[in-house]
Amino acid sequence: MKKRIFIILLILFFGAAFLILSLELLSRKCPHIARKERPDCGYLIKKYTTGRSDSLRNENFMPSPEPNDFELDDVVRKRIIEVEEKDMGSLNGIACGSYGFVSVELPYFAKKYVKDHEAFHLIGYDNEKTVNYKAGSRHPIGLIQTIFYSVFSNFKGRKMTEYPCIIGNLWNTFKIYF
Ligand SMILES: [Zn+2]
Repeated sequence: MKKRIFIILLILFFGAAFLILSLELLSRKCPHIARKERPDCGYLIKKYTTGRSDSLRNENFMPSPEPNDFELDDVVRKRIIEVEEKDMGSLNGIACGSYGFVSVELPYFAKKYVKDHEAFHLIGYDNEKTVNYKAGSRHPIGLIQTIFYSVFSNFKGRKMTEYPCIIGNLWNTFKIYF
């Protein structure tokens, strides 16, 4: 009995090692494909914030570094703007200076999570892991929905032959975030 468990563990270990090794090779072999296109902050700010009738642009932006739920909601409401999907390149959201932009096409919970994620960047958090943890603890379902949505949208409209490279790129992204 003990021997059987040992063999199963051994297989799992080598299986995981083989998987990680192949993912590493894939992510190195084809960096050209499915590169994350970064949206242009200058363009987004110009298109979506100029001519706003509210006082957003002139209001001083001095958020608290440790906001309570209410304060964070306020940052989201005042500083995070939903934009057309085509303006976001291949990202779900981006923080630009004192504004954050998220794709209007994101599913319900994912959108809440991504808005919080960018709001935490706006108030000064740079580390992706910290931001994910903070936004994820407010919207755990949103975090999961965002992961599934991002994986799905990476494959959407791609040829089968490009799949290995896409998997390699997802692995790179995964390493940044977790
Ligand atoms: Zn981020």
